[in-house]
Amino acid sequence: MIREVINWKIGEWIGNCPIFRPTERKGIIFYISGISAFRMTTSEKEIKFKQSKEVPVCIGHDRRSRNKKYWLYVDKIYWENDNLEPQDMKLLLDEKIKKRNRKIEKLKLADTTSDNEVKREPISDEVKMYVWKRDEGRCVNCGSKINLEFDHIIPVSMGGSNTARNIQLLCEECNRRKGGNLV
Ligand SMILES: [Zn+2]
Repeated sequence: MIREVINWKIGEWIGNCPIFRPTERKGIIFYISGISAFRMTTSEKEIKFKQSKEVPVCIGHDRRSRNKKYWLYVDKIYWENDNLEPQDMKLLLDEKIKKRNRKIEKLKLADTTSDNEVKREPISDEVKMYVWKRDEGRCVNCGSKINLEFDHIIPVSMGGSNTARNIQLLCEECNRRKGGNLV
């Protein structure tokens, strides 16, 4: 069984390497380590953290149930209890992530369809210009200046209007993530 650990936060940083603390279970601290955090140097941990962007890295065991292993992969934490190897973990997680992205795309497509049914009016140039100036040509979420989109804070399908108060600048990535979260 593989599950994503949702309630966690970065507790502190050692060099470029964060320590992860799950918020729901006190007493467990994740170190970027398969063995013991204390025996690893900071640069070894940093290397592991970088590795986790490409391949799942085991970051610890549950102290209470020994067969439960925790993994870090592309900024997300997962646990599994099937004693998996990194390569198996990667295959399974890539499949899981692909499936979820497909689901989000499908739901977003459904959302666009319902928007069209409400006969979506275009946002006026005045509103666009006003919003662009107000938000200083940046994504209001992450500050990016690339691939910006005019986003309805309340979707048109839920009764949101085309007034500047309901429009904000979001980059494509943040907009997509918002779409996923609404679901
Ligand atoms: Zn953004």
